[in-house]
Amino acid sequence: MTSPEEFIAAAEAHSAHNYHPLPVVVATAEGAWMTDVAGRRYLDLLAGYSALNFGHGNRRLLNAARTQLERVTLTSRAFHHDRFADFCTQLAELCGMELVLPMNTGAEAVETAIKTARKWGYRVKGVPDGRAKIIVAGGNFHGRTTTIVSFSTDPEARADFGPYTPGFAIVPYGDLAALEAAVDDDTVAVLLEPIQGEAGVLVPPPGYLPGVRALTRNRNVLFIADEIQSGLGRTGRTFACEHEGVVPDVYVLGKALGGGVVPVSAVVSSREVLGLFRPGEHGSTFGGNPLACAVALEVIAILRTGEFQQRAAELGDHLHRELAPLVDGGAVDAVRGRGLWAGVDINPSRGDGRAVSERLLARGVLVKDTHGATIRIAPPLVISKEDLDWGLGRLRGVLGA
Ligand SMILES: *Cc1c(COP(=O)(O)O)cnc(C)c1O
Repeated sequence: MTSPEEFIAAAEAHSAHNYHPLPVVVATAEGAWMTDVAGRRYLDLLAGYSALNFGHGNRRLLNAARTQLERVTLTSRAFHHDRFADFCTQLAELCGMELVLPMNTGAEAVETAIKTARKWGYRVKGVPDGRAKIIVAGGNFHGRTTTIVSFSTDPEARADFGPYTPGFAIVPYGDLAALEAAVDDDTVAVLLEPIQGEAGVLVPPPGYLPGVRALTRNRNVLFIADEIQSGLGRTGRTFACEHEGVVPDVYVLGKALGGGVVPVSAVVSSREVLGLFRPGEHGSTFGGNPLACAVALEVIAILRTGEFQQRAAELGDHLHRELAPLVDGGAVDAVRGRGLWAGVDINPSRGDGRAVSERLLARGVLVKDTHGATIRIAPPLVISKEDLDWGLGRLRGVLGA
């Protein structure tokens, strides 16, 4: 196989069609750029849904991985290994928390957080057995397991996958009164994205997250922040919750924690909460493996410098300044976001999100549409201002703005 068309035809012939990728076949990548099998270069404005915050082929992360590959890659949790303690200590410290429970994918970490909250509800809060309730928001995206799709409001994600896991209540995102009305004595947790990524980079109204924090504290309910996509630098802070001065009870992390090299996720919380687990009650063969810990330790070291948070804040201000005029010009209906992260609702006169993504692809820029009319802009945080401006120029071009 040599041409993109051949690769795509073979992929379509032999893989389940659970994705609808743009017609580009990537062969190599570095920094914010990807090169396809035909040698064409593309500016990556998606960054693997924020799994690639530190760029493709980041030298520090590759070196950390390479060094660890030569030492030991997997022990299972049947034995200790010499990167585990550092990883847990340093991740807990980065989060200002006490304990870490490592997993691999985001969905596994969300599942872990759900089990954690239920256990806390029964053992600490005193909820009668089998009655624990977790409140989530409409429009959420927390992953793809049967339990997680049980509380999705996206028909595509849910249909045909029942029977659904009970124990969840859904309230509108950003509506504090609705949340307050839904909390009862059996409520063990509120699970939220501090900014909803898949929904189109929805930022809740100011005061919402602090309101959730106060409500959950007053009602003895855990506040679980799913920062899998919003966390680790994307919004200009280590955590999106920080913009509102909020510290949740539980962080759920993933995506960028693996540096775009390996899947690494984790639940991070207090001793009171995560300290409840006993051997045999939860786990994962690959969770917390030496390679994952080595890469994540380097990610944590990079985040400690604050350099990428600052970059995301500064370039993010620039991005939003550049995008705002598109709304006034009529090409775009709305722009939302924070830091180097934007959801752009395309005016129907310019085509839907998929059409705009395909036109951008033809001009050397990679983005992904969501929910029909929206495209997401979330470049690797290593992107240069010049490259970002070049990409934005292409966007204006395809929108005729
Ligand atoms: C991507 C994502 C997940 C799921 O992560 P996977 O690694 O794909 O399982 C969960 N929550 C949020 C907010 C996400 O963006």
